[in-house]
Amino acid sequence: MTLSQQAPSRSAAKENNDQEDAILELRGLKTYFFLERGVVKAVDGVDASIGRKKTLGVVGESGCGKSVTFRSVMRLIQSPPGRIVEGEILLHRKDGDTVDIVKLDPRSRQLRDIRGAEIAMIFQEPMTSLNPLHPVGRQISESVLLHQNLSRRASLERAEEMLNRVHIADPGRRIGEYPHQLSGGMRQRVMIALALSCNPSVLIADEPTTALDVTVQAQILDLMRELQDEFDSAIVLITHNLGVVSQMADHVAVMYMGRVVEYAPVYDIFHNPKHPYTVGLLNSVPVLGRKDDKKLVPITGMVPSPMEEITGCAFADRCPQAMEICWQQTPEFKEHEPGHSAACWLHD
Ligand code: SF4
Repeated sequence: MTLSQQAPSRSAAKENNDQEDAILELRGLKTYFFLERGVVKAVDGVDASIGRKKTLGVVGESGCGKSVTFRSVMRLIQSPPGRIVEGEILLHRKDGDTVDIVKLDPRSRQLRDIRGAEIAMIFQEPMTSLNPLHPVGRQISESVLLHQNLSRRASLERAEEMLNRVHIADPGRRIGEYPHQLSGGMRQRVMIALALSCNPSVLIADEPTTALDVTVQAQILDLMRELQDEFDSAIVLITHNLGVVSQMADHVAVMYMGRVVEYAPVYDIFHNPKHPYTVGLLNSVPVLGRKDDKKLVPITGMVPSPMEEITGCAFADRCPQAMEICWQQTPEFKEHEPGHSAACWLHD
């Protein structure tokens, strides 16, 4: 599998247009950081929905709020200085119950139960999640013990089984090894095993393959797809790599300056983008098999400071299609075609 950007097929788009029922919904989510020099509006009114057993790709340049949005979902924002100031994070459980994660006490048992057992997160650098002082098998079994009613022996067996599921050879030996004894790709597999050990409904993967070489990246992505089928998990894939998104995602949310500016099935993002920022992202990366011979065009200008008070569209000073209204009024994020939303005056 290549990791160059490849346009997704129409059959995928048809499938993606199927009605889906959401497992996780973000409504008007705002997470701010209150610093001495001002307020950083890292997430500034995000609406998004993740379908059961689907993959949502979240893309955008560094600092656009992708990671902070989903760290907010896990309630992993360091407070102070960060705080969720507004909005809802609704987890629709299998039993039909809905819980608003924003309302939970960060130290509560309920939130601890959700983290790991219902929503799990993996990071770019596995060492941020793995404890260097404990063997990897023990780390997985501790997580299983915390969330499931199993004996210590059964939880260790589960750890070995999970290492086997993520295709780590000789899992019986590896469970006794420490993270530093494993390669980068193997550590990432262990983290996936750890994340999936309690069969969560949602797996949030924050740049899971960025630190790995291309061959290992492809193996990890294949593994995530395989495990998604097996465990029926929804995946949120946070990445700056549109190639990865084109191969993994059912839907894509494009973020800019703490907001989602476009949301659509993956086919429509690649073939019918509506927001000039999405067009800019697509034009600035190589497309495998693209018929036209367009040159790569970087997006001009810089992302404004998240502390800046902006009137109008936040993309206006970088947008080749900016109009007068763009400098005066903020475009509303709304649906312009079924299932395809964007925040841009061009479509009003
Ligand atoms: Fe460009 Fe205006 Fe659309 Fe913003 S609203 S992306 S400035 S056309």
